[in-house]
Amino acid sequence: MSRIAYVNGRYRPHRDAAVHIEDRGYQFADGVYEVCEVRDGHLVDEPRHMARLNRSLSELDIRSPMPAGALSFVLRETARRNRVHDGLVYVQVTRGVAPRDHAFPGGEVAPAVVVTAKPINRQIGEANAETGFKVVTVPDNRWDRVDIKSVSLLPNVMAKQAAKLKGANEAWYVDADGFVTEGSSTNAWIVDGEGRLITRSAEHGILRGITRAVVFDLARRDGLEIVERAFTVDEAKQAREAFVTAASTVVMPVVQIDETPIGNGAPGSIATELREKFHTMVHLGTN
Ligand code: PMP
Repeated sequence: MSRIAYVNGRYRPHRDAAVHIEDRGYQFADGVYEVCEVRDGHLVDEPRHMARLNRSLSELDIRSPMPAGALSFVLRETARRNRVHDGLVYVQVTRGVAPRDHAFPGGEVAPAVVVTAKPINRQIGEANAETGFKVVTVPDNRWDRVDIKSVSLLPNVMAKQAAKLKGANEAWYVDADGFVTEGSSTNAWIVDGEGRLITRSAEHGILRGITRAVVFDLARRDGLEIVERAFTVDEAKQAREAFVTAASTVVMPVVQIDETPIGNGAPGSIATELREKFHTMVHLGTN
């Protein structure tokens, strides 16, 4: 089946879908994005993803490309046209197409929008969760507005590649004081000896993950304690469990950090249980 992409008002065959060479996303990484899980044909937690998209846009003074209802329709329609039952929808909004100049173009320049959707094989995700992720640590070399989901992802690309070259699945960023901030595309968590979930506060240095927020809701419902504080790499290596969260991985156990196995080197029971319960807590759209 041929794939379809939405590009600036049109649904195009994926192989021909293109943006202009002077799109500011291409020239300056001057844009933002969201990734939303599709599960059983429904967008998972769309309202929270759209709220974060709007916040990212407003922090960068990029105007909203279209009314919320229209964008919501485009996301669903792109998923539908690609027959995505389980997968991911990606939406990117840039400041638009204008002659190259660092300063913003005039207000008449419309933001540019791209939406794509792709299926993912649920069995592969579950198989990964049974094995668990290996993580390497890298210095956090990003700017300090990582709360904005910007398409400027070069440090994230470099970190993920460093992980891949070492046979790992994810890289955890470490700040100048030795504390873990987050993963290159995930939020980072550990579980201490008392079964408390520990994750860095979203006040500074991380993206406020939607999956992270759902784990907070799950923990509240199931009586698990969450402590929002920074933890060091050494503390993580001695933790009972570790895991990462993201729309693309849901809750994914971490079994190794650098060369150190976590716990008994197998996925932890709390992470595994959170993964199993995750979709009982999420908001599923009605498409
Ligand atoms: N941190 C970073 C740097 C990310 O790119 C992502 C994935 N978007 C996350 C955390 C997890 O966020 P979410 O749960 O909203 O996917």
